[in-house]
Amino acid sequence: MATLVKKFGGSSVSTPENIHNVVDRVLHEKKPEDKIVIVVSAMGDSTDELLDLAQRVTTEMPKREMDVLLATGEQVSIALVAAAFCSKGHPAVSLTGFQAGIRTSDFHTKATITNVFAERVIRELANGKIVIVAGFQGLDQNGDITTLGRGGSDTTAVAIAAGINADYCEIYTDVDGVYSADPRIVAEAQKMQEITFGEMLELARLGAGVMQPRAVEYGEHNGVAIHVRSSFHEELGTIIREEYTVQEKNFVIRGVAHDTNVAKIAVKGVPDQPGIAYKLFSALANANVDVDMIIQSVRDIEGSIDILFTVTKTDLVEATSIVELLKEEMGGFTFDVGINVAKVSIVGAGMLGSPGIAAGMFGALADAKINIAAISTSEISVSCLIKESDVKAAVNAIHTHFFPK
Ligand code: ADP
Ligand code: ASP
Ligand code: MG
Repeated sequence: MATLVKKFGGSSVSTPENIHNVVDRVLHEKKPEDKIVIVVSAMGDSTDELLDLAQRVTTEMPKREMDVLLATGEQVSIALVAAAFCSKGHPAVSLTGFQAGIRTSDFHTKATITNVFAERVIRELANGKIVIVAGFQGLDQNGDITTLGRGGSDTTAVAIAAGINADYCEIYTDVDGVYSADPRIVAEAQKMQEITFGEMLELARLGAGVMQPRAVEYGEHNGVAIHVRSSFHEELGTIIREEYTVQEKNFVIRGVAHDTNVAKIAVKGVPDQPGIAYKLFSALANANVDVDMIIQSVRDIEGSIDILFTVTKTDLVEATSIVELLKEEMGGFTFDVGINVAKVSIVGAGMLGSPGIAAGMFGALADAKINIAAISTSEISVSCLIKESDVKAAVNAIHTHFFPK
């Protein structure tokens, strides 16, 4: 007997036929004693459609109301999936995030899971039901509905798996596993058999949308191995786990990631005094705006500096209003905003102590005549800010350099 959590993304439940395919597959693979929780996302592109709907009503949708709206998408899917199981003679019950015991912080639209009270899920499983849980949503301490950020159903699945001590957490999606680059951008991308939490977290953080970064983090902290695999066939996908168990080819670089959800803000002519960076970045942090790359440069004119930083496009309105406020308060500087930018990154634990890796990436970009606007590094990654229109060429050039045929 196994206890399994299976998460199906939006494309896997996008139509009534796809919902029936998911249900048939789960029932076909299920052994009589298995306990199964299914976490589902909203059908197809319905989260995008809800975002668009909100935009058409107001461009200043309160975040609390945005969460009430977005959470409806997953509620549609759970009811339909549960009903499809029942129609095939298998007892099933749908639970919202709240009913499944998902408790979160109160940062609307990107809340983090703080607790999972899994008693209800465990009770329903003990009663022989397949339990269908709405991904992406939870409840904060005020009793308000929250959502977990784009891709948040992945995190729901891993959190439920930890909460019920499941044997596996399986993420079913529209690709066969985790690849060395987005297979929709790089035709030669290679599927991985395994990847460590650390390298997957870095890839996800840098834009590899196949897993939400927080899901990987949650898996690492709670020791939940994650199997990313195709929802269309039964072949094994990629296991995300603590350590490698098989020796694949010895890569220094594990993968190339790209992110187009990036915007840059250049603040120019700020007085060169202690505390300025603190003032700017603490205001952004208080608003829960993640700042990524930061470059500070000294100007020719004595006593003034420029600061360039990047945020996600989704946080740009908020970040811009914070900089605007600071400008009113302090005066003396100008700023401009750029949205036609993107970030490309290489990730690999093997690059620690391997000089020349970053140079290899810059060389690949130079050969492809792609200009670098900013660079940032971590112990296991190097990222370059480039023009958004160069992304495909950049990812392919870098991939070809590090993964030659
Ligand atoms: P779901 O709706 O199932 O959650 P997502 O669209 O969120 O699916 O994630 C799957 C997508 O992630 C793939 O279609 C692929 O384009 C993208 N992706 C980006 N980087 C990678 C990568 N390194 N490996 C696999 N897929 C990737
Ligand atoms: N439906 C949400 C989204 O589109 C959550 C998810 O799919 O994981 O981001
Ligand atoms: Mg996803």
